[in-house]
Amino acid sequence: METIHIKCPNCGKVLRLQRAPGIENMTVPCPACGVRTPFLQCKQVALPQSGNKTELPSYSKTGRVSLIDRTTGRTYELPEGRNNVGRAHATSNADVQIFTTDQGMSRVHSTMQVIKTASGTMRCVISNANNKNATLVNGEKLEGEDELYLQNGDIIKMSHSEFIIDIS
Ligand SMILES: [Zn+2]
Repeated sequence: METIHIKCPNCGKVLRLQRAPGIENMTVPCPACGVRTPFLQCKQVALPQSGNKTELPSYSKTGRVSLIDRTTGRTYELPEGRNNVGRAHATSNADVQIFTTDQGMSRVHSTMQVIKTASGTMRCVISNANNKNATLVNGEKLEGEDELYLQNGDIIKMSHSEFIIDIS
């Protein structure tokens, strides 16, 4: 599936998403300002592309979004709203604390924002939140303030740790 970049007409944030069937009828919630804009009113911007995405659902029909640690098998629920995700520690401010021995994972490593769509389904947007330690999605590094809509089964890498996003 093709990756496209669109610009939020309200705040100017550039978002990446997949050109899914029926996208013309979709309303895109902006993770930065929260304004929902019909896809057709969003301006597409040309940015370098990468990715070889397969067709997978990018929203949850059950309303549940969770993160599965591939090493420990542990599942972390991601509630609606903005979730700072990072390594569990007494001094960690992360909303979702990952129990790991991977010291390369920051105490707040990335943010995963769960957004309820107009139809009541859930979508999840990931950002590296300007962390100097990289976050990768399917091997692709998130740059700066990139925000990427996740698809079910995407592999998220923080330090040496890999997670699967479950949006089903
Ligand atoms: Zn916006």
